[in-house]
Amino acid sequence: MARHLTTTADLTDDEIEAIFDEANGYLEGQTNQKLRGRLVINIFFENSTRTRSSFEVASRRLGAEVVSLDVATSSESKGETIHDTAANLDAMGASAIVVRHKNAGAPKVLSKYVKASVINGGDGAHAHPTQALLDLFTLRQALGEVKGKKILIVGDIKNSRVANSNIKLLARFGMEVVLVAPPHFLPKRSGVKSAWNIREVIDGASAIMSLRTQTERHEQPIYASLSDYAANFKIAKEALGDRDIFIMHPGPVHRNIDLDDGALSDPRSLVLRQVHNGVAVRMAILSKFVLEY
Ligand code: ASP
Repeated sequence: MARHLTTTADLTDDEIEAIFDEANGYLEGQTNQKLRGRLVINIFFENSTRTRSSFEVASRRLGAEVVSLDVATSSESKGETIHDTAANLDAMGASAIVVRHKNAGAPKVLSKYVKASVINGGDGAHAHPTQALLDLFTLRQALGEVKGKKILIVGDIKNSRVANSNIKLLARFGMEVVLVAPPHFLPKRSGVKSAWNIREVIDGASAIMSLRTQTERHEQPIYASLSDYAANFKIAKEALGDRDIFIMHPGPVHRNIDLDDGALSDPRSLVLRQVHNGVAVRMAILSKFVLEY
């Protein structure tokens, strides 16, 4: 029976270590065509640039065939249910289906209708496990040991699947996670320390993860304009001073709203390293889920 990746809780610590070891090998230039003859299907019912292309590149580097469908060209717009679409794709012999959907829980539901391994490429505000895994991998690469280190997650946390997955995964690997947001962007019960003002908590932090304001998930506009949000929550190079602190963002960045130009291009910015590492981590994830089950 296929195994699925819907949240990071689907993996044990040892499995995560093994994924990271394999990803490190790919970064060091190891090549492997172990998915030759396999089919990976990406179904993206919500927009994506990085995640979709990252899975495509990862699949091709492993020798797999890859087909990517986005909502505009899929049958959902013709009234077909998501699981019927998936069951049809599955019937084509897919080994893995990477799915993104605006509804939390959609990948889990889908996994019940297909033989392939379902990999969650982001579901609503719920989870984005491969993003959290590549973030942890990148933090380890930058910091060495992450245990006991403090990371600030800044922005629209309540509506962010990236934050949701990272809060759980980074804490599980021993990081001190502090959420920085206005009250309406904070989840009700995260069980995690939070602050309104970044200046209160920045001292001693090893990394800041900035998030995009998820306007597509707001029932009504929260800020009249994003620059009102930026006035308090933009990460500016100047405010970082000479701190030993890394800057992360899952993308897409609202430039000069989430991060200013200076912070984005600063040598302490890991933003493009996250994208680079993402391909290697997803290669390791795909090969595990396709070949081991
Ligand atoms: N790319 C990430 C996601 O799909 C972050 C974002 O869209 O802001 O959740």
